[in-house]
Amino acid sequence: MSGLIITSVPLPPSIGTACPSDGLLYESSPPTAELKAAEPTVGSSYKIGQSPHIGRLLIATRDICADEVIIDSEEALAVGPKQATHPVCLNCYRRVDGSYLCPLCQWPLCSEACWQSENGHHQRYECELLASKQVHPTIEELKQDDCRLYDCIAPMRIVLDSHRNPERNRLWLGLEDHRMYRKKIGIWQIDKHTVVDPVREKWQLGDRFDDEELQRACGILEVNAFEVCDEDKSISARAVYSHACLMAHDCVPNTACTVNPATQKMTVRAAVDISAGQMITTSYTFTLDGTLRRRAHLKETKFFDCCCPRCSDPTELGSHLSSLACPRCSGRNYTVPEDPLNPESYWKCLGEQCGNRIGPTQVSQLLTCLQRKADELNYDDTRGLEIFIETWSSILHPNHSILIGIKYYLCHFYGNAPGYQLHQLPLHLLVRKIKLCEELLGVALILEPGASNFHCSLIRELELTEKELARGQMSEEDTETTDFEDDNQP
Ligand SMILES: [Zn+2]
Ligand SMILES: [Zn+2]
Ligand SMILES: [Zn+2]
Ligand SMILES: [Zn+2]
Repeated sequence: MSGLIITSVPLPPSIGTACPSDGLLYESSPPTAELKAAEPTVGSSYKIGQSPHIGRLLIATRDICADEVIIDSEEALAVGPKQATHPVCLNCYRRVDGSYLCPLCQWPLCSEACWQSENGHHQRYECELLASKQVHPTIEELKQDDCRLYDCIAPMRIVLDSHRNPERNRLWLGLEDHRMYRKKIGIWQIDKHTVVDPVREKWQLGDRFDDEELQRACGILEVNAFEVCDEDKSISARAVYSHACLMAHDCVPNTACTVNPATQKMTVRAAVDISAGQMITTSYTFTLDGTLRRRAHLKETKFFDCCCPRCSDPTELGSHLSSLACPRCSGRNYTVPEDPLNPESYWKCLGEQCGNRIGPTQVSQLLTCLQRKADELNYDDTRGLEIFIETWSSILHPNHSILIGIKYYLCHFYGNAPGYQLHQLPLHLLVRKIKLCEELLGVALILEPGASNFHCSLIRELELTEKELARGQMSEEDTETTDFEDDNQP
């Protein structure tokens, strides 16, 4: 399966375009204003700036053209397994089954070759400590799809790295951890249960790691880490970068980020032209989610209320990812929130003559119900997916996030899935794929324009499908001509 899968999705990092009113969010520890990450190298197109509401961020120092590399192969400050992951190799982050164990600490690795690789993260950081305490996953834990022991590895590496020398410590101190907010909403307590207590008490490493250091490392990861994965999702890790993590959030980012899954190096390109003085941004959430879900996700995982232009616009900049068909106008007009920044807002019809309003409870019940139906869909049954789209297109805008997610899946499925390769598709499915590409491109042009992975992959898929369709039509014409000639044989 290739094509539409994006090699890296930010987990996502740092702080964002947040509502200035929410003062608590910016109570950092320690105050970041006094801290400095390594400065950008000479000739960089950006500098590290500071905003009272957003904290530290990257600002373009000159005009940057679309597709220009802004950050070239930035080395990760730290890499480690994701939270609640299936068991992975502690060096290359590929899934492991426990058949090869590290000869020193008995944690599973993928192979002897990986164990012997130079610069293995595992040997460099936790191996010796784990070996000294003889702590490793049990056979039962190795069967879990959400093995919480792996949650401890990345925070331990950050603490060990910060102990190595004052320069490294300064880099870590420069990253946000939203300490107060994590305490307020209980994440602090969860991290104590899944990371701090296991490391300090169960593994008896309290003399090497104190509570505060581990909590800060957990916060840095939650706020700043990017997800590292490859196309077939065999690699699963998270990584923190000193510069890339300073990009502010925007629900319409102006960059495209990719992480090389083998080296975990991050490259950031301009997706669109960026003017001197503009913020360099990425999205910490899923671009194809509607505003209610995006803002809830950002609040829950990144601890801020996004008030970016897209979140503030009832139509999401005309993409209509959240719009509903107006029941009174029988689908001719769309209903949007009166105040998109308030989840309790009433919704009203955009039709000038109509003015129909719907209460927040009614909207929420409808969306919960449809989302549940969508979650229960069998994704192997493409006919069922097409029927779902057809059925609910009368209630939702055709670009509604619930439908667009399924359309995105189908667009990728047709032409890439086994048995559905482009050359195997009948003409009507080639035509359908082109329609899906065009619809999705309309959304991509608004929400991830320019050289974004989403936009570029759709263009590529569209071009290949149009070529295949032209080839199919030509051979059909050939057949017709041959038939005609055959018919005219004496
Ligand atoms: Zn490995
Ligand atoms: Zn080991
Ligand atoms: Zn936003
Ligand atoms: Zn209406």
